[in-house]
Amino acid sequence: MTKKQDVMFKKMALIGIGLIGSSIARAARQKGLVTEISCSARTHDTRRTALELGVVDEAFEQAIDAVKDADLVILCTPVGTYEKLAEEIAPVLKKGALVSDVGSVKQMVVEAMEPHIPEGVDFVPGHPISGTEKSGPAAGFAELFENRWCILTPSRKSTEEAVEKLSDFWKGLGSDIEVMDPRHHDLVLAITSHIPHLVAYNIVGTADDLEEVTQSEVIKYSAGGFRDFTRLAASDPTMWRDVFLHNKEAVLEMLGRFSEDLTALQRAIRWGDGDALFQMFSRTRAIRRQIIDAGQETAEADFGRSTHIED
Ligand code: NAP
Repeated sequence: MTKKQDVMFKKMALIGIGLIGSSIARAARQKGLVTEISCSARTHDTRRTALELGVVDEAFEQAIDAVKDADLVILCTPVGTYEKLAEEIAPVLKKGALVSDVGSVKQMVVEAMEPHIPEGVDFVPGHPISGTEKSGPAAGFAELFENRWCILTPSRKSTEEAVEKLSDFWKGLGSDIEVMDPRHHDLVLAITSHIPHLVAYNIVGTADDLEEVTQSEVIKYSAGGFRDFTRLAASDPTMWRDVFLHNKEAVLEMLGRFSEDLTALQRAIRWGDGDALFQMFSRTRAIRRQIIDAGQETAEADFGRSTHIED
């Protein structure tokens, strides 16, 4: 049974109520961390679904209507929307409110939002390292953040108390907290999340373009490895377009390293250097063991991925 905790925020406003927003709403309500939840979403369908699912009390088209009187405001839309949204909501933010986000990129979020945050309002950017390839309010679930990391990247408009309060909120949702510099976050996530998604988008795109191998063969024999890339490559196109547009430097830096290493593997295959291949594959196998030991994955044959998948 879910343990109820003390109410931390009277009213929480979620700008965007998709996979992440609706998971926050479900978990915060289940754990009793907030009393009232409002949200905003562009489309009528999303607002209606969120209300029908009972994950929010109110749903508005405009963010400005959702954030009125809110003590905690979390942006849960694609990162490319943040600057405009921050500018829009700034005049109505309540004094003493805490503003945060869940964006997968952090330096750009600080630069885009910080200038708009008014005096007397705290701004603490965040990124839960948990997600699935699914989108929309119906895809969310309360357990999404359990035993997953949430990274906070304080800004010049974050007081220590606000960082502590947001940490406690995410701990209440089940997460472990790490506080990090936003640039470092972007570099770490470039290799652990952004490049893997790019590789997956690329490999699935290449298979789709092949002429000698038919599409039905690609699908029929996908269990050979291809299938695992298709999960990542099924992730939301808008979200991932924005991630690559806004984490350009770190992604290009990591992609440079990645290409060099790929060239080394290419050379080893060309010259029949079995030792080089064996050494590399043994090293990578050990990394997977460490991930399982750290509780960030299971050793089950299907990767234990019925619902819990990393972003
Ligand atoms: P999602 O399920 O697609 O939901 C996105 C929400 O944002 C929807 O409510 C959508 O409203 C709204 N939205 C989309 N475009 C908008 C626009 N131009 N203006 C205003 N609202 C807009 O996405 P998500 O997976 O929850 O991702 C949301 C954020 O979480 C992103 O910033 C992403 O980087 C971050 N994140 C995602 C994951 C993951 O695995 N998915 C993990 C960690 C962090 P409509 O439905 O009405 O269009």
